[in-house]
This record gives sequence, C-alpha cells and structure tokens, in this order.
Amino acid sequence: MDLVEFQGKVLFHRNGVAVPPVGTVCRTVEEIVAATATALADGFAAVVVKAQVKIGGRGKAGGVKLATTVDEAREHGSNILGLDIKGHIVNVVYVEPASDIVEEYYLSVMHDRVNKGHLVICSKEGGVDIEEVNRVNPDAVIKRSLTPAETSNGLPLTIAKEIIVGANFPVEVQDEAATLLVNLFAAYVNEDATLAEINPLIRTPDGHIRALDAKVTLDDNAAFRHDGFTEWKIAGIDAIDPLEAEAKEAGIQYVKLDGHVGVLGNGAGLVMATLDVVAQNGGRAANFLDIGGGASADAMAESLGLVLRDPNVKSVFINVFGGITRGEEVANGVIEATRRLGDFPQTLIVRLDGTNAEEGREILNNAALKNVIAAATMHDAAVLAVSHANNA
Ligand code: GDP
Ligand code: MN
Repeated sequence: MDLVEFQGKVLFHRNGVAVPPVGTVCRTVEEIVAATATALADGFAAVVVKAQVKIGGRGKAGGVKLATTVDEAREHGSNILGLDIKGHIVNVVYVEPASDIVEEYYLSVMHDRVNKGHLVICSKEGGVDIEEVNRVNPDAVIKRSLTPAETSNGLPLTIAKEIIVGANFPVEVQDEAATLLVNLFAAYVNEDATLAEINPLIRTPDGHIRALDAKVTLDDNAAFRHDGFTEWKIAGIDAIDPLEAEAKEAGIQYVKLDGHVGVLGNGAGLVMATLDVVAQNGGRAANFLDIGGGASADAMAESLGLVLRDPNVKSVFINVFGGITRGEEVANGVIEATRRLGDFPQTLIVRLDGTNAEEGREILNNAALKNVIAAATMHDAAVLAVSHANNA
C-alpha cells in the first residue's frame, strides 16, 4: 500500500529520519486556517499547504503552496481542497511549518528485483523529476545495489558515506546525510517497505538535512506483521473505486486499470499474461479480473456484468483455459451471461484453450451472437480486442 506524504513523514520520524516540524492534517478550509494561525502564533514565519494524494507532481499541479498569512492559507486551501491531480481528488491537506531551502537532493531505497537485493539511488540534483535527471545527466545519479548479506545488520555507515560522497554532497552535510541514509534504510526494513523515497531531501540554511517530501510504499505481503497496516488507513484517501468495492463484496478478484480493453480470465497468472499481450498489441487493459477456477454461467455473468459497467470498457477479452471446467461449459457460460445481461455495445472476444476448447468454440460460433467472437489463439484475441476497442 502507498502512504501519503504526511504518513511517510510519521514513519520516517519514528525511525530517526529528520523531517520538518510536525504539521496538521486538515479536511476543511476552516481547519487549514486554524492550523496556519497556530503555526504562525508558534513563531513559524510561513506554512506550506500540501495536497495529500497518492500521486507525485503535486507541486506542478498547484497542490503545494506557501502561505505567510492566514488569508493566504485560506485562499490556497480553498483552491487545493477538491483539486483534481491526475485523477486524484484532494480531500486531505497537510499544513506544515515551511522549511527554508538552500539545496534540494534526491534519496531513495527500493527493492531491486533484478539483483535480488536493495537499491539506493542518490543525487545532488533533487526536487525535480529524477528520471529526467537520469536521462539528461546520468552521472549525477548514483545507483548502488546492495545484497541482503551486505545489509544483514542494516546499511553500514561506511557504505552510506560512500554513496553520499559519490553523489558529491557538500562536505559539511555528508555525515548527517549518511546517517540519515542509514536510518532511511532501517525505516525501509523495519516497516517492510518496498520503496522509501525522499524528493527533495533538503539542506536548510542552518546546515541541516531533512526530508521535505516522503513517498513510501509498504509491502502488502507483510501486512500480517504490522496488524494489517490498519494504522495507515485514512478516511478520505483510501476510498476505493465503486466497481472494486462491488467486486470485493461479490468475492471477485478485480482491479480497475486505466485502459479500454476489459480483461477477464481464469487464474491470476493467465489474467496477468492477458494484460501483457493486450499491451504488446498496442492496447491497454481497463481492468484485471480473475474469475477463479470454474467459469460457470453464474460467475461469468456476474464478472462480465461488472466489467461492462465500466464506461471505459470498449471491448472485452475473455481468456479461459479449460481444465476441470471444460470448453463447452465455458462457452455456455458466456452465452448464458450475454443472455442475462441483455443489450450492451461492446464486443466480446473469447479465447478458449485447454479441455474441449474446440467444442467450446463451435458452440460459440453456432450460437452466432452478434457481439461475440471466438478466437483461436491468445494473440488473435488480443489483436481483435485492441482493434475493437480502438474502433468503438
Ligand atoms: P511533489 O511536487 O508532489 O513532489 O511535492 P513536494 O513535497 O516535493 O513539493 C514540491 C516542491 O515544493 C519542492 O520541491 C519544494 O521546492 C517546494 N516546497 C515544498 N515544501 C516546501 C517548504 O516547506 N518550503 C519551501 N520553500 N518550498 C517547499
Ligand atoms: Mn516531491
């Protein structure tokens, strides 16, 4: 699960990673105004009003604004609450005492699946899009792979120092930055994160280093070790998609995605492969849906109904590998499901393989449904699904 910034900062703080003075989580303009008044009365010269959404680039989208007066904070607050940042509506705002910035750096730790270890990325050129820095000036970005053996007792300070020095951090802040990196690594391990990113890590005029932003992804597979990560569930941010909620209710494995080809298959692996083959043929999946082992008419109707209710879905790729469930049962399930669902504009492309696939295709072809096509291979089905989605 992804944390929003202020949660990432809570997590950093309890692991010894320096962050700005603690701010206030707000849901209304009045709360933003009150939090600002308090911070100013406490002697802070300014606050920063920050949208709390699980997406980067908030600053560019107008979701991060400095305010030196209560009126400014009110103005920014009313603009930021309700703002749409790349499809994420801002319901929660964090009002934090503003930091003075001398320099902005970049620092992150993440899983390195290729090397079966961890990866630290560090750059003196932070605050901006790090991929862009890496493209334009790759020498400015230090990448250090770490094996589990090297880090069995945490990240050694010597390695942290090497990374910081390698990234050309100013001498005055190297020690503090190295210690912060050791603690960031500890946070990442202790909290079972797959990513802990600071962009920017800042140097303040008094010569200290602190995390001005926080992006943390926790490993859902480790939730059982952390009480289900319940401490991070927060009202107004974790509102799930209504179709996902409906699927959960019905016990269907469904994840909404942002493309136009609805995808439905039996078995998570097959569904993942289907997403890939759609992408390889120039399309994008609108969802992931695993109907599970059997592909009964009931399961098919329910699943298909869900996929078709997504207005983004322009075609549907049904990919079923018959095992215990035979091809003709699947075909009858699809026919029954379309009968129950009545009229719908999308074309269904059905690819059957495995037990009695041929029989299943024959049943589908004989039924001659106006918007159902039986395809012989996964590739053929993907090509058809993508072209129907594009021409719909
Ligand atoms: P992002 O755009 O979602 O990555 O949000 P950030 O938290 O990284 O903020 C974006 C930019 O806003 C930073 O790179 C800073 O330049 C600026 N910013 C954020 N907080 C402060 C602050 O406390 N003081 C100052 N002066 N600038 C800030
Ligand atoms: Mn940032």
